[in-house]
Amino acid sequence: MEQNLLQTKIAYLKGVGPKKAEILQKELGVFTYQDMLNQFPFRYIDRSQIQKVANINDDTVYYQLIGTISNLQLIGKPRATRATARFSDDSGSIEIVFFRGLKWIKDRFKPGVRYVLFGKASEFNHNFNFVHPEIEEYNPNDPLIGEGLQGVYNSTERLRDNGLGPRTIAKLQKLVLQQVWDFIPETLPKYLLEQENLIPRKYAYYQIHLPSNNIEIQQATRRLKFEEHFFFQLKLLRNKMHREQTVKSHVFEVVGDYFNEFYQHHLPFPLTNAQKRVIKEIRRDLASGHQMNRLLQGDVGSGKTIVALMVMLLALDNGFQACLMAPTEILANQHFATIKEMLEGMNVNFALLTGSTKIGERRKIYAELADGTMQIVIGTHALIESKVVFKNLGLAIIDEQHRFGVEQRAKFYEKAALPPHTLVMTATPIPRTLAMTQYGDLDVSKIDELPPGRKPVQTYHLYSDDRYRIMVFMKQQIALGRQIYVVYPCIKESEKTDMIALQAGYEALLRDFPEPQYKLCVCHGQLSAEDKDWEMQRFITKNAQIMVATTVIEVGVNVPNASVMIIENANRFGLSQLHQLRGRVGRGADQSYCILVTDHKLTNDGKMRMKTMCSSNDGFVIAEADLELRGPGETGGTRQSGQIEMMIGDLQKDGELIPHVREAAINLLADDPKLIKPENRMLREHYKELFAQTFDWSQIG
Ligand code: ADP
Ligand code: MG
Repeated sequence: MEQNLLQTKIAYLKGVGPKKAEILQKELGVFTYQDMLNQFPFRYIDRSQIQKVANINDDTVYYQLIGTISNLQLIGKPRATRATARFSDDSGSIEIVFFRGLKWIKDRFKPGVRYVLFGKASEFNHNFNFVHPEIEEYNPNDPLIGEGLQGVYNSTERLRDNGLGPRTIAKLQKLVLQQVWDFIPETLPKYLLEQENLIPRKYAYYQIHLPSNNIEIQQATRRLKFEEHFFFQLKLLRNKMHREQTVKSHVFEVVGDYFNEFYQHHLPFPLTNAQKRVIKEIRRDLASGHQMNRLLQGDVGSGKTIVALMVMLLALDNGFQACLMAPTEILANQHFATIKEMLEGMNVNFALLTGSTKIGERRKIYAELADGTMQIVIGTHALIESKVVFKNLGLAIIDEQHRFGVEQRAKFYEKAALPPHTLVMTATPIPRTLAMTQYGDLDVSKIDELPPGRKPVQTYHLYSDDRYRIMVFMKQQIALGRQIYVVYPCIKESEKTDMIALQAGYEALLRDFPEPQYKLCVCHGQLSAEDKDWEMQRFITKNAQIMVATTVIEVGVNVPNASVMIIENANRFGLSQLHQLRGRVGRGADQSYCILVTDHKLTNDGKMRMKTMCSSNDGFVIAEADLELRGPGETGGTRQSGQIEMMIGDLQKDGELIPHVREAAINLLADDPKLIKPENRMLREHYKELFAQTFDWSQIG
């Protein structure tokens, strides 16, 4: 009954009707009264204030004026394209302009009648005017004037054209509230409201739409944000519980010969404490009988590859196959080469499978994976093609997982009778709030320690007219036997101008670094996989001192002798990308350098990024700054954006609230894991309603 009222179609609201209802649906996704109430103001204006024309001096704020309209003119022949008029009060007059609805405009304004004008002023030729302001007859009894703060709502041109400007939406909100206010159900249990000092839900809706002061806005916002994050956290935590308690997976009981032999005889260096701890955490998951879904975070160069290998050996010890998937061929090749070196002298059957694997070889790999003789396979997307059939895949490791979508990861589930244990590895440090939201249903391990002897990379920001200095520096470094990356932005590999910039840069370098004394190689997305690999190999084997490249080298490439990273047009990269690129150097014992090159012309945002890079080497600091500058959708790619669409919650701004809410959700679930206690009845119902339609991603991390 109560629910029904909130589910009333918006078309039934007085002043809406079928046509406007359709526009509200299309433009704002508002179908029902409830949807309408969930359109929250993005800011507030003080409608009790009436301003004067003479005081208009700012094109960023809204003005509310009362006055008369005169001098209406239609401009343009033979057909009018624009109408102008004067709006006057006792302090002066200002132009108002219309481009649309000209047919009716003649009859719209009557001389001598007082109107309320509401809108943002525009500045045009050093004069202010109003373009398409909202105008209506002044009615001293109008409930919206003189009532304190009024919400400003999202509106679109189409909405405004159809008489649904922000002011009208505010009025509709008020109408809805009048009808349903008493029926807005509470969703949080009483004890939680008390404990968290939250106002009841119906007051929150009232105060957010019709506040009388700022304190009411704050109370309402906090309550509604809390609620949204709370239900979201409940969902994540329940997914996790479900996985831990019910999704069965293979039990890796033993630590056997493969692991032990490697550990005792083939370990190329002592593991760091962080690496040891992480392997222990993973081993605990693997033995639990439930499916592991773990995220392994470790800054660039922290040594994730050897962890991956050792975990794969555990799978082998228990009679299972394992695979390692990387986002690019370069990276897959490199993993294969590294692992090959480390497994030298051990009796393990492993292979590389990518798009360039020759057909004969490919068939052999398919056959051996199917009959179980192939124990480890390393590769790219080629691993998840349907032709790849495993006899008993027990573990799937996904490197630099932000390059993969959830569906791609899910593909591994079809490749085994029971879902394989899954480890996703990322070098993109995830800010705390995102770890709790986007990754809130995964377990997280962190390698928070770099291998010993690393010197922090020194980072400098130089301008493109410092090129001579940069060249001299490069020559010094090469004379010391070091190698250098020069990276060009190429956001889309197809972008023509970007390729031209790279080509021009490459040619300029060829002039400054002539053969035979110097050797350059070049690597970008337009090369065939074979050519890319050949160029890469020349760099790896030190047959070239300078590698000119696009971001194809961004992920994972490991050439410890490379000690200089020069990033051209660095302002075009985001912070996490810059940090990734910088991570390509500083992998050996030598002092390494990162040089960010930009023009003098930089946006504030660009300046901030350069400053952040020069002042910090800490991936977590950089990720937090990135989140602040760009918001969660952009940060590191992480999970597909769009999965978390919040109405009022904001992953970027609610950094303080989220951990608190998560804790409250954890406590509630500890007390009532199935949400069956009577005091949680409303909560359970709201939960069901919220998540009835969402696909359950819990199974696939
Ligand atoms: P990432 O975490 O970025 O994938 P890698 O696994 O590529 O890092 O390791 C980076 C480099 O550090 C490699 O050259 C690797 O051999 C080396 N390395 C990894 N762990 C250790 C360690 N415990 N001691 C010394 N060097 C290590
Ligand atoms: Mg790596």
